Order: sequence, then structure tokens, then C-alpha cells
Amino acid sequence: MATAKAAKKGARRAPARKQQAFDAIIVGAGFSGLYQLHCLRDRLDLSAVVLEAGDGVGGTWYWNLYPGARCDSESHSYCFTFDDKLLSEWQWSERYPGHAEVRRYLDHVADRFDLKRSIRFGTRVTGATYDEAANRWQVTTEGGDKLTAKFLITAVGCLSTANVPAIPGLHSFKGRWVHTGQWPHEGVDFTGKRVGQIGTGSTGIQSAPVIAETAKHLTVFQRTANYSVPARNAPLTPEFRHYLRENYPELVRIMRKTPNGHPFVIERRLVADVTPVERQAIYEAAWEKGGLQFRATFHDLLLDKAANDTAAEFIKNKIRTIVKDKATAEKLADIDHPYAAKRPPIDTDYFEAFNRDNVTLVDVRADPIEAITPGGLRTRSGKEYPLDIIVFATGFDAMTGPLLALNIRGREGLALADAWKAGPRNYLGLQVAGFPNLFTITGPGSPSVLCNMPVAIEQHVEWITDCIAEMRAKRLQRIETTDAAMDGWVQEVNRAANATLLPQAHHSWYLGANVPGKPRVFMPYAGGMARYRDLCAGIAARGYEGFVLS
Ligand code: NAP
Repeated sequence: MATAKAAKKGARRAPARKQQAFDAIIVGAGFSGLYQLHCLRDRLDLSAVVLEAGDGVGGTWYWNLYPGARCDSESHSYCFTFDDKLLSEWQWSERYPGHAEVRRYLDHVADRFDLKRSIRFGTRVTGATYDEAANRWQVTTEGGDKLTAKFLITAVGCLSTANVPAIPGLHSFKGRWVHTGQWPHEGVDFTGKRVGQIGTGSTGIQSAPVIAETAKHLTVFQRTANYSVPARNAPLTPEFRHYLRENYPELVRIMRKTPNGHPFVIERRLVADVTPVERQAIYEAAWEKGGLQFRATFHDLLLDKAANDTAAEFIKNKIRTIVKDKATAEKLADIDHPYAAKRPPIDTDYFEAFNRDNVTLVDVRADPIEAITPGGLRTRSGKEYPLDIIVFATGFDAMTGPLLALNIRGREGLALADAWKAGPRNYLGLQVAGFPNLFTITGPGSPSVLCNMPVAIEQHVEWITDCIAEMRAKRLQRIETTDAAMDGWVQEVNRAANATLLPQAHHSWYLGANVPGKPRVFMPYAGGMARYRDLCAGIAARGYEGFVLS
């Protein structure tokens, strides 16, 4: 809440509301928006403004305050690396940053670079239309503001549009319901309450054990069982801090060179290179160490189903060992997709929570949720679950949702929603033909969610900044990609995805499968951040190949 207060203070110090014409409008004040503002305003000396729906900085972290919300990137890598002083002066307290600490960090960044004076908080964008004659974007807000800019840059994140499933009867519910991605800043008191949690993705796996600590009873409604590896969160030791101080340049180099932007290297060895006994020891060590490194134990875990099966079986056996009730353990271990083909969660005592007397697992694949009733929830078999609070840990309309919510219209009024009717089509995840001077930071088709986000964000922001700087130097007014470039990129995105096991998780949000009616297209670029970085650099060096500049 300290952050919310600080943010409000920031809101009061908001810029003079009169200026409505800018060189650049940036939408969103999370990692991307803050850095993009700094680059354009302070490095290129452009007039730039950030429009932010929330009352404070943080982006997805402003809204995701649910119990247990914590990043799964390690804190020393979940930060900006563009400024050595910033890097050395900020001290993280734990191995993984909790949601409040991430907001404190971003608040610190915003204050340190004096960004808040250029951010309009509490300002939700409702439309953005390209005016071809003027070569400017006209942006409207919920409050009735009309702003214009030559460049429109979306910094809306990939996971910011909450997905509340359309379960019949929700409006009749007499209790309280909340979505984890729109968590009330004042918190939710579960004491003495019968709580139902729908969803067992990364979010549900984090929230369930924490909710169980105070709820009278927690019922977890699981549709798809999920893998999880212990996070092993802990306070950072003085020794580790010392190690960081000595090794940051090398760690940053690794983060920029590895496919997933994390500060650890994916092993070159294949599963078949070791004996079953050695393999078991490797998995045991990774399980004990905890975190996403588990995925990096072998090179072929995401490339070869047989290799993946060994990791999958290891985790399923761990679940069976941890969870004492056999029937519950079997439901939790009945996982239908390869390990890490869906975003692999890491947890703190998730499976252990099912050993508590006040936690029950309900398999809603076997007996689907039929309706929310005034008193709780009913499944198809007619079984009623009386509830006081329902927690929807049901995820997001990922990647395209936040962009389509902006109601963007390009040349001749073409709506982005129409251009993407069959799924997102763009070039490098950065630009869409028909939408000149619009850049989408971490858009679909970029590595984004398959990478440690700040690493992906810094690369996009710097590429966009360099591009705008070059346009200015050459007195160019417009940049727009082409249909041919988009076709080529869509092919590359599909090729990269199909070289992995990722598309085999048919119900994954990577494929848009979690939102009814959403086109099934594998959205993020799975070719790796390092390859992507090189591709983008080469394209810029060759005079922005695939773009038309005029
Ligand atoms: P998610 O991965 O999409 O999971 C949503 C869960 O809700 C799934 O278990 C899904 O079941 C279930 N669900 C959705 N609609 C349902 C319905 N109508 N009935 C029953 N179950 C339903 O969403 P998330 O857990 O919020 O995570 C989204 C992403 O956010 C993560 O993958 C990760 O990238 C990011 N995240 C990161 C962290 C972290 O850094 N530690 C934490 C939280 C989130 P099905 O699988 O059957 O669809």
C-alpha cells in the first residue's frame, strides 16, 4: 500500500494536463513504458507521455496483488540492466521478488529518472486512430481526453487483460468473487471463509497455499493438472550479494546470450547422454536447488518428447510422494501435456497444501463446473460446493487481449481486431502493416513471455529508440512494415514453435486456447531471445529490411 500512496502522490504531480500533442504516446507504465519514456524523453529529447490506467506504476504488477504473487525470474535478473548505477544501488531482499517489492523497484526507477511528471495515471486509453493526412495518431481516453502523436508505442504487457470465464450464474452469486489479475489494493480477508479457487496455472499454484493459511476451507477446482517445481525462495545472503557485485557484468552477458534471458545457461547435454541413475541425480539436484533452472537441466527437454517424459515422470513421482492422500495425488499427477509445454510454474508448498485438513481438490475435468449459484458452485453431476468467496485464478486474454482492448485503427479505419481476426500477424512482434508508426513492445510474435521479461523489454525498447533516432537523423516521417515481411515472420514464428514441444499443450494460453473463440495461433516467438536479438540487429543494420521508411 505504501506504493499505492506513492503512486497517488505521483498522480498529483502529474504533468500539466493541457499538452495534448506529442512526438510519442506510450501506453502503459510497467517495465516497458517506463524505459521507453526514459529513452525517448531523456535520450532523444522527444516530447513523450505515458498514459496509464492504474494509479501507479507497475503494469501487470500494479494489478496482480493476489496472495503469494511473486515473480519466477530471480530478483537479480528481474530488473533493468541499462544503467550500472541503478543496477548496483538497488538491493533485492529475496531470491524471487514478491509483488510489492517489484512495485517498490519500479517506483524507485520512476523517481530516480523523474519519470512520473510525464505519466498520466488513472488514464485508460479507449481508442487510437491513425490520421493518414496528418501522419499522426489520435488517442482518446476514458476521461474524454484527446491526444495526438507521431508515434504510438504500446507498452501494455502480455498478461494484463483478466480472463473471467463466462460461467452461468456468476451474477447471482451472493458471496464475493475476485480475479487474481484485478486484485483489490486493500486485500481480501479470507479468515473464516469457505473459499473456492478456480484455476491451477502459475497464479493458482502460488495463491492456493497462502489462501489456505487463513481460509476456513479452500476448495481448488482443477481442470488441467499442472507440473510445478519448488521455487525455494529465501532471503538473499550477504555472500550472494557479494557474488552479484563481483559478477554482474558476466550475468548480464549471459542473460543477453541465452535463449530465455535468464542468468543461467541451458546445459548442452542430452537426456540420452547420461545413465538413468545420473539423470535421476541431476533432476534431484535441480529439484533441491529449485526454480526455472529445472528446465535447463538438459538441452532436449523441450525438443524431444522421450527426453521430456523423463522430467515429466520425475515431477509426477515427486507429487505422489508429497501428497499423502492417494486419490488427490493421482489427480494432481494426472498431467496431460509435456513438462514446460505450458508455462512451467514454480511454487512454495503448493502440493504440500493438499495435506492440510482445510484444503480439497476437485477435478472439474471429470465433473465440469456447470454453474455458479447464489450459494456457491455446482458441477455437472449436481454436486454443490457452498462458498463465501470465489477466486478466479483463470489467467488472461494473453498477448493480443491488451492490444485489442485499445481499439486501434490504422489506415482507412482498419481495426487491428479485423486485421487479426484469424490471429496476430505482424513483423518481429513489433509492427503491423497498415498501422504506420505504431510499435508494439513485446507484441505477439516476439520472444516476450518465453523470455525473462525485462531482458526482452530492454531489447525492444532500445531497438525502437534506435529506429526513431535514425528516422529523425534522416528526416524520415513514417515507418511501416509490409505484408510480405509479415508473411515471412509468421512463417518463422510457426517454424520456431513447431521445432519444439510447446504446441503440444493444446489448452495453453500460448495458443490462445484458454479464451473461447480466440484463434488458435502459437503467439510467442520460440526461436530464443538471443537469435531474435541478432535477427532484429541485422534487419536494422540492413536499412530496416522489411519496413518501408518514407
Ligand atoms: P493460466 O496459466 O492461463 O491458468 C489459468 C487456469 O485457470 C488454468 O488452470 C485453467 O485450466 C483454469 N481455467 C480457466 N478457465 C476455467 C474454467 N472455465 N473452468 C475451470 N478452470 C478454468 O493463468 P495464470 O495462472 O494466471 O498464469 C498466466 C501466466 O502469467 C503464467 O503462465 C505466467 O506466464 C504468468 N505468471 C507468472 C507468475 C510468476 O512469475 N511467478 C505468476 C503468475 C502468473 P486449463 O488449463 O484447463 O485451461
